Amino acid sequence: MKLLLVNMPWGKIDFPSIQLGILKSYLARHGIDADVSYQNLIFANMIGLDLYSRLSISSRYSYLLEWLFNEFLITDPSLAREVRNTQERDIRELISLKSANPFLTEQYKPSPLGNAQAVNEQFIEDELVKVCKKIKNETIPDFFYKLLNGLSLSEYDIIGFTCSFSQTAPALSLARIIKKKYKDKVILLGGNAVSGDMGMEYLRLFPWIDYIVYGEGERALVDLVEHLRTNDDRLNGGRDRHGHDLKGILYRSGDGQVIKAPPQPLIPMDDVPLPNYDEYFSQIGAIEAATGKKLKQDTVLFETARGCWWGERVQCKFCSLNGENLHYRSKKWETAYEDLRALSRRYERNSLICVDNILRYPSFAELLSALPESKLELELFWEVKPNLTRAQLQTLAKAGVKRVQAGIENFSTDVLKLIDKGASMLKNVQFIKNSYTFDIQVSYNFLFGFPNEKPAYYDDLLTLFPLIHHLTPPLYPPKPMILQRFSRYYGQAAAHHITRIEPMSQYKRIYPMGDIDIEKIAMNFSFDCAEIPEDLDYLNRITEAIKEWNIRYGGNHRPVLAYESGAGHVKIYDSRFGRFKSILLRGLAAIIFLHCDDIKTLNSIMETAQSGGDRHDRDEEAPYAASLDAARGGGQAASQEAIQRILEQLQFKKLMIREGDRYLSLAVQLKDIQHRIPPQTMQNITQAKLYHAFEELPR
Ligand code: SF4
Repeated sequence: MKLLLVNMPWGKIDFPSIQLGILKSYLARHGIDADVSYQNLIFANMIGLDLYSRLSISSRYSYLLEWLFNEFLITDPSLAREVRNTQERDIRELISLKSANPFLTEQYKPSPLGNAQAVNEQFIEDELVKVCKKIKNETIPDFFYKLLNGLSLSEYDIIGFTCSFSQTAPALSLARIIKKKYKDKVILLGGNAVSGDMGMEYLRLFPWIDYIVYGEGERALVDLVEHLRTNDDRLNGGRDRHGHDLKGILYRSGDGQVIKAPPQPLIPMDDVPLPNYDEYFSQIGAIEAATGKKLKQDTVLFETARGCWWGERVQCKFCSLNGENLHYRSKKWETAYEDLRALSRRYERNSLICVDNILRYPSFAELLSALPESKLELELFWEVKPNLTRAQLQTLAKAGVKRVQAGIENFSTDVLKLIDKGASMLKNVQFIKNSYTFDIQVSYNFLFGFPNEKPAYYDDLLTLFPLIHHLTPPLYPPKPMILQRFSRYYGQAAAHHITRIEPMSQYKRIYPMGDIDIEKIAMNFSFDCAEIPEDLDYLNRITEAIKEWNIRYGGNHRPVLAYESGAGHVKIYDSRFGRFKSILLRGLAAIIFLHCDDIKTLNSIMETAQSGGDRHDRDEEAPYAASLDAARGGGQAASQEAIQRILEQLQFKKLMIREGDRYLSLAVQLKDIQHRIPPQTMQNITQAKLYHAFEELPR
């Protein structure tokens, strides 16, 4: 038996599908031949690579992208005629910024960040309707026609589709076309978008789908292929008379009922093979040869773990990742190390993206320490929880981690507690400060509009943000929380005062058939909340503050807050508030400032300051120990009042922030960021040093 695994639009085109790459390898290990077809690349080339990327990168268009393919799903001719007449209305509704989050009022409409975004908005207004009609009415029929005539489908017995990234309607459509022409082909779907109730409903509604693989695909697919090899269910109209022998699939019983077989046991991570991306690169090569265009193809994906180590303990309330299975498992670090080497060697790529939910540092400390020794000059990407320490981030940087996506989500400790994020304002600031120090590019979202949040939770952030304009801001605009299937907010709605949960109205546009239960196929839901504050203007205030942060950080005069230390003193350079300032800290103030380079409790500060600089503690191990040692300079024991006064002065000067009894200095070490300082600020720093022009803290 031979399989064709298809990656449909709107799968990402900048890198291959790791799901299909792993499946291909796993099937091969079990003697099953499978090809992978990147139809997303072919389609992207038809509509234009730039347009494809712009559409598929934004979650705003996810419904629209599915809708573009829905015509092939409508079997009733009069309904098909009807929806053809409402295309323009549908497009406008699908791209409207209306949110299903009740915290967002009609007045909430974040203004564009800059010219590029404004141009994009203009593009949306003026062009998108026209472009989408052309794609729907001309390009997609042409795409399917060419696909059906170009792919030698007759050589395959089973055709499988991966469904995530707005791929479900495109996959269902192509499946229908294939089944019409090749009745004996077994058609199956797999992936996040068809798990749980969603898959059950798709299978009930679309008779041309034979099976849906739910959960992890590897074992379920091998068992299914073996089963089909020995039981020719295709003769039974795709209905599986023996489905009860299988696990991890949805199937139809003899009387047409949709049945969910028991789940497959989870696969040990060390049994997950290296993904095979051969077809991705050969298809890229073929498109380049045919068109003379160059395609981005510098990155491959790898996997070291599945599930979420935090989520299996305390799932963040809004999180829907991992569907029904959060259980965390990881590869041995040696296996992960060999995977990285093997992928880099086979595909001659240095840029590798890890697809794990979040890095569990202890599992991979040895891997990260081994990489600098390996002489592989890799550029790695990982998703991380912002609880990583300075030393851990430094290890990541040395291992070649250049970019991370961090689960920061918010800077209000009240909000972070509300959503069970296991973080705090101070920890999140420390994380972006340390990432900046080690030149690790961080991207992160700012989420708001959580059930039961209060405007007062955001007040302190308006004061905090200007103090950290020298550190990486959240992506703009901030995002309202979306209520998603599999999240705790969805599963425990009543406990969170969430009411009137309804599937997002856009699903009705994608699936206009009367007999579909939209509730079952929806991933995103609109909702109401019993406790919505009366004054929602705080959302606009916080949005403007984040916009301001982005503009200042992204501009030519990026703010700087840096320090350098000498014996018994610390020099600070500050351009965050327009006028450049240079400040000199001496003795005790310098000791306290340096001690709080990482979060410190008041007790720890007292202990260190009162030891007069002679104490040998674990700080000596810290990377800034030399600076701390230099600043201490054998000072005298200090009174509690003097220490408190200095802490207040450091906060007054906006050089330090406090949360409860914990303190954090905000400056980063000059030597770590020197090459990233704007020329004018660097000139000011040089002048301040040259003429020893510093203001001092009052004694
Ligand atoms: S949001 Fe991230 S950390 Fe939280 S449960 Fe989901 S995957 Fe885990």
